[in-house]
Amino acid sequence: MQYKTQQGFPSTLVVENWIGGSPAPAAGESFASRNPADRDDVVTIAPASTGQEVQGACEQAQQIKRSWARVPAPGRAKVIARLAQLLRSHKEALARFVTREMGKPIREARGSVQEAIDTAEFFSSEGRRLYGQTVPSELPDKELFTYRRPIGVVGVITAGNFPVAVPSWKIIPALLCGNVVVWKPSDDTPGVAALFADLWRRAGLPDGVLSVVHGGGADSAGEYLVRQVDAGLVDKVSFTGSTAVGRMIGGVCGRNLQTPSLELGGKNPLVILADADIELAVDGALWAAFGTAGQRCTSAGNIIVDRRVMPTVREQLATRARALRIGDPMDEDVDYGPFINQRFLEHWLAQRAVGVEDGAALLLDGKRITPKDQVAGFCGKADRGYYATPRIFEHVRMSMQVAQQECFGPTVNLVQVEGLEEAITAANATPYGLSSAVYTRDAKAMLRFKEEIGAGMTSVNNSTTGAEAHLPFGGNGWSGNGTRESGIWVLDAYTRWQAVNVDLAGKLQKAQIDLSDDADPEAADWAALTGA
Ligand code: NAD
Repeated sequence: MQYKTQQGFPSTLVVENWIGGSPAPAAGESFASRNPADRDDVVTIAPASTGQEVQGACEQAQQIKRSWARVPAPGRAKVIARLAQLLRSHKEALARFVTREMGKPIREARGSVQEAIDTAEFFSSEGRRLYGQTVPSELPDKELFTYRRPIGVVGVITAGNFPVAVPSWKIIPALLCGNVVVWKPSDDTPGVAALFADLWRRAGLPDGVLSVVHGGGADSAGEYLVRQVDAGLVDKVSFTGSTAVGRMIGGVCGRNLQTPSLELGGKNPLVILADADIELAVDGALWAAFGTAGQRCTSAGNIIVDRRVMPTVREQLATRARALRIGDPMDEDVDYGPFINQRFLEHWLAQRAVGVEDGAALLLDGKRITPKDQVAGFCGKADRGYYATPRIFEHVRMSMQVAQQECFGPTVNLVQVEGLEEAITAANATPYGLSSAVYTRDAKAMLRFKEEIGAGMTSVNNSTTGAEAHLPFGGNGWSGNGTRESGIWVLDAYTRWQAVNVDLAGKLQKAQIDLSDDADPEAADWAALTGA
């Protein structure tokens, strides 16, 4: 694949699976990804991999895993450093392709490629650390050490909303730690995946260390990859996607006594307390609720507002949401673009009835944008894109389904509370626990919120979205199984600790047994007392 100019991609990218370092022609059918801003634009045609092809990729990965693990970590990291350079020099081209294939605004797409660059830069230096420990032994002439060892073949399955950043969070540390990867990217973004894999090839990754198998999820490539856990060909699964699929993967891995990395859905609370800077809070709420058209795992689902400031928040949020610029995601000034796919659009359409049946009121009645039903300032192709205006429910109670279920679209709920205690209770009242935010000027309220919120991530006076490459990312409850991506914390997900003891005594030494406990002065008295 050649990168000529930023517009230098063929109008339709035809990709193959990439196995063992070469394109692998597939026997089965193919599928197309279409530009969600213009469904006539076929972005990529990719193979719908068969079970045999996925199994073949895993068998090949098993064969190569020892040779990659033998490359010293600083050597593995050099490939990652070259990847960082390549990502940087192709940032604009890749960002434009991300926007074309999955529809996030170009400014956000650039940010998501930057996140992959940051991740690659962080881990290129981690190759010179990947520290273990030296530990004192209780016995003489004996040394104890710990080492991080790779797990083996990692099956990576990712969602399409962050098609470069999220795969980079997984693939980069997994490879740095000496694992090999078989990646099943989202069927929404096979072209982005092929370009990302091509950058790895150009960075000098040895053949077969990363393979890519394309296809859908249920009863196709994703499921075939998960089956390889039972077959003994995948040693670890790293998954980002919905809670339902994550639960299924957790079951398969659990019965094989494996620990998967599961990064799942969210219904994230953003709390606005009575003393908050309201303008700042509404800025954060708009970005958290409607950025990427609400299609982020960290999107705000419930805006929890103190009664005393609810009228102001309600008024400002509705006014500013009405004024959001929706349309062509290549436009530098749009606030949000289309739904990534028809499935997300339909789910969002159906959510309206859920809220209304619950008894919630529509402060803004978001609608699909069609040629006949457009809004002021809209700048997309209404007949060919999956666009919608913002939906805001008010008078929402946390017991309602609409407050509990993730929607993944431009919609948010207003929930009224009285004071910090009630706000924290409401914020913790969903089964999810991914991200959260609180807006307040009161240092003690910040402290309480940080201590008592159940989410894996929390922001003070900033929105629920916005990860950084060197901070742990992940959730609790239905949002994940407690593993974390990013920073040094992710190393635990892709390595196993090995404990090593080296005995130089020249005779058999037995820990615990060879050591006498005579030093305890109480022991003698105790013997006398008990007559022992
Ligand atoms: P999804 O679970 O349907 O799909 C995610 C990936 O899993 C895709 O590659 C898909 O093909 C594959 N898949 C689907 N069914 C499968 C199966 N039965 N077996 C194996 N693989 C299967 O998710 P989605 O609806 O496409 O994406 C949106 C979800 O992802 C939301 O819930 C969102 O919150 C979540 N997400 C989470 C994070 C995070 O880091 N926590 C990040 C992005 C998205």
